[in-house]
Amino acid sequence: MATKSKKKRSTKTKSASSKTKAAKPTKPAKSPKPARAGGTDPKRVAAILAKLDEAYPDATCELKYENAFQLLISTILSAQCTDVRVNQVAEMLYKKYPDAKAFAYATPSELEQDIRPTGFFRNKTKSVMGASKAILEKFGGEVPRTMEEILTLPGVARKTGNVVLGTAYGTASGVVVDTHVLRLSNRLDLSRNEDPKKVEQDLMKIIPQEKWIKFSHQLIWHGRRVCHARKPKCIECNMESLCYAKDKTV
Ligand code: SF4
Repeated sequence: MATKSKKKRSTKTKSASSKTKAAKPTKPAKSPKPARAGGTDPKRVAAILAKLDEAYPDATCELKYENAFQLLISTILSAQCTDVRVNQVAEMLYKKYPDAKAFAYATPSELEQDIRPTGFFRNKTKSVMGASKAILEKFGGEVPRTMEEILTLPGVARKTGNVVLGTAYGTASGVVVDTHVLRLSNRLDLSRNEDPKKVEQDLMKIIPQEKWIKFSHQLIWHGRRVCHARKPKCIECNMESLCYAKDKTV
């Protein structure tokens, strides 16, 4: 009897629980991932690359440097600063601090004043000195040649890594995504992401690897000369027929 009554109870419980399950509210649907940019058709991408080659055949990094180490330091200094200003500061800087050792053992307060015109000079001093020390201690005084290693340097993220590896060593490890590349990738509908890392991944999928280095420089040049953040000069743009950006000015 006892068993029977137990059985009955257990059936009741089961049925109640299945009722509860049925009454559970359904989970809200996950918010959709950003749609793949519609402008990534290979023919369209090839047309954009051809237009960039036509407009900027000689595009390259506008920072002045004599070796990979100087380019690394100048790229760190270029955060939130123009290349023109960095080049002005760099002229004196590399005479006073000719190599990694000189930067690594600099007097921080003196270096801060030397790079002050580039802005954020306290943080930049920490990055410059930290990167120089790491280069001396871990890499025998030479800027490392792989993305994995260069990212271990203080103050160095993928953008700086791509600039140095691509421009100084000719190694295409990724695409430089600075403020210009980010804005133009969105306007040209090559990426609908806003996070530079995701934009870089999107670009690496649609741009042939042998074009990564040049393409970054060309977009940066176009952003500086024509496709400005405010009031892009669309009338002067040779990609106007391919572009359907909402903020086009023609
Ligand atoms: S048409 Fe205008 S918005 Fe489009 S890429 Fe050219 S300058 Fe930029």
